[in-house]
Amino acid sequence: MKILVCVKQVPDTNEVKIDPVKGTLIRDGVPSILNPDDANALEEALKIKDETPGTTVSVITMGPPQADDMLRECLAMGADEAYLLSDRAFGGADTCATSTTIAAGIKKIGDYDVIFAGRQAIDGDTAQVGPQAALRLGIPVVTYVQDVKLCEGKAIVQRQLENGYEILEVQMPCLLTAVKELNEPRYMSIGGIIDAYAKKVTIWNHEDVGLDPKDCGLNASPTQVFRSFTPAPKGKGEMLAGTAAEMAELLTEKLREKHYL
Ligand SMILES: Cc1cc2nc3c(=O)[nH]c(=O)nc-3n(C[C@H](O)[C@H](O)[C@H](O)COP(=O)(O)OP(=O)(O)OC[C@H]3O[C@@H](n4cnc5c(N)ncnc54)[C@H](O)[C@@H]3O)c2cc1C
Repeated sequence: MKILVCVKQVPDTNEVKIDPVKGTLIRDGVPSILNPDDANALEEALKIKDETPGTTVSVITMGPPQADDMLRECLAMGADEAYLLSDRAFGGADTCATSTTIAAGIKKIGDYDVIFAGRQAIDGDTAQVGPQAALRLGIPVVTYVQDVKLCEGKAIVQRQLENGYEILEVQMPCLLTAVKELNEPRYMSIGGIIDAYAKKVTIWNHEDVGLDPKDCGLNASPTQVFRSFTPAPKGKGEMLAGTAAEMAELLTEKLREKHYL
């Protein structure tokens, strides 16, 4: 069995702070990490590899050269191969252009049984790349996957819903997007870290994946970020006074004023 995992290097948004005076984001010293949902996606692929002899797990990312660090982390966790789609022509991509490039890379890798991706990246936060990549590859997709079993060319998948889950059977090859409830990602092993640096990361540019520069990056992005800004701070908290009934009354009034009720 051949499994591919789409992984993205993201700034650790838990570490991004807002400058209280300037109101801007403080990005200095913010570490780049493997996107958390992608760690769950990779863990699931590695679990299948542990249980199914002959399985290979490849990771693929589109990003700048420094994404190599994250790919080494994936190799140290147990992935067999890593692919980095890196080219200036890929820069400024929105989700449409990102998924076009990732799908082109996956097509070049060729035969695969299952593709895992994260549900969402913690920086862009759109949750669009997985489904769009599946569309471009012409394969079925199931999002919000919290459990999966593979048997006889099919994936039996639990898909998380707001207040429960649904069980779906999907023909392989398919793309599944992982949520954190799927599993607990493993740590890198010491031996894995050493081996990861001996492994080759394959780097492909637009020519390698057969894309014209007009079909990738900013040139192929129907959306463009027009303006970005830091949301206004929430303002001070307010203590309510009075009896429990009076405070409840006041609270309801305030929530109505803000149209929360
Ligand atoms: C310089 C710059 C300019 C940008 N300009 C725009 C713009 O004009 N308009 C706009 O809409 N967005 C823009 N973006 C954001 C960009 O679209 C997103 O970073 C990218 O498309 C991924 O979307 P997302 O982060 O929402 O991922 P999601 O859709 O939330 O990610 C879901 C899953 O898809 C996979 N995935 C996502 N990205 C990658 C990747 N690069 N490699 C491998 N797998 C991946 C992962 O498995 C991930 O968990 C810009 C980003 C940059 C850095």
